[in-house]
Amino acid sequence: MVRTASVQPLFDAPAAVAPGGASAVLTVDLDALVDNYRLLRDRFTGAACAAVVKADAYGLGAERVAPVLARVGCRHFFVAHLQEGLALRKILPDEAAHETEIFVLNGLMPGAEATCLDGRLTPVLNSLAQVDAWAALGRRRGEALPAVLQVDSGMARLGLAPAEVDQLERDPARLGGITVRAVMSHLACADEPDHPANRAQLAAFETLRRRLPPAPASFANSSGIFLGPDYHFDLARPGAALYGVAPVPGWPNPMRAVVRLDARVIQTRWIAANDAVGYGHTFRASGPTRIATLGVGYADGWLRSTGSLGRAYVGDRALPIVGRVSMDSLTLDISALPADMLEPGDFVELIGPHQSVDDAAKAAGTIGYEILTSLGGRYVRRHIGG
Ligand SMILES: *Cc1c(COP(=O)(O)O)cnc(C)c1O
Repeated sequence: MVRTASVQPLFDAPAAVAPGGASAVLTVDLDALVDNYRLLRDRFTGAACAAVVKADAYGLGAERVAPVLARVGCRHFFVAHLQEGLALRKILPDEAAHETEIFVLNGLMPGAEATCLDGRLTPVLNSLAQVDAWAALGRRRGEALPAVLQVDSGMARLGLAPAEVDQLERDPARLGGITVRAVMSHLACADEPDHPANRAQLAAFETLRRRLPPAPASFANSSGIFLGPDYHFDLARPGAALYGVAPVPGWPNPMRAVVRLDARVIQTRWIAANDAVGYGHTFRASGPTRIATLGVGYADGWLRSTGSLGRAYVGDRALPIVGRVSMDSLTLDISALPADMLEPGDFVELIGPHQSVDDAAKAAGTIGYEILTSLGGRYVRRHIGG
């Protein structure tokens, strides 16, 4: 097909890996992931940098992401659910397995204690009931079981409330049967460096952890690392920044892009002035308009709320999404392109060098985290590097 010289060649590599007429290719750059891990580890002044790989490594594929990070020295992984932890245990390379710890952030569901222990997972204990259940299992098994104690320093989501910490301070025997691997807490506003809650949570965390047995402390998520060394403590827990999301919104993003999403054109057409496009007829052409339909929709995580604020790119050329995003497709106004550009099968960029995950999130009125974790199961996934 003839390409017009003024437009950069399309990213053509996905064509080779789009079997069965797949209509979009999600590329995950594992080298960029490793660079991001190293950057965070270098910035972090504490002892160890973990990786948060919950929700299938924020949608990018824990099976590919975790072993690559283990290979460059990551020895602490956080998941949210017990099932994620069990799956991750099977994925991690054997040579690192015995020294790799997997922490389950959401804590222990009643009755799940033995599964957690036998799966070689370390629970994050979020309540006295969880502390008691884990300690009881330790006593039954005749060994001290590893656990992280989470304290609530002011987010009111997970963790021991100050009154529960008081109870543990008064009755330390309750922790008999438990080896406290770390005391942790989580910041609610770390992505807003000037938010007063950051200092308040830091002060609360300092106070609460002193009431518990001495143990390494873990406080900073991705954004927390960028709040400076006061917030670092011993073990960092970055997630989003590993995957390229800007840790400090509004500042230049120091992270490399890890994800690229290229969608294929499935049909093109000319419409006339006053013709409407898509559900609800929310877009009406003001003149002759060329429309391209892409095979990506909200079922693929291209959020419906993106609507007409979203765009796609062909080379440097931004093309507006027009009309509502459908479940399996969306429509672009491609009138700005030369008439011979874009045919069914051609790729356009939805996420890539011209439009970051954060840009896509902004158009959808959300955050990069939600864009990544929404990425659907219908893409051909291609992992490069690593
Ligand atoms: C998800 C999560 C993280 C990772 O946060 P990012 O902002 O993605 O770096 C760290 N700690 C806890 C408790 C979490 O739930």
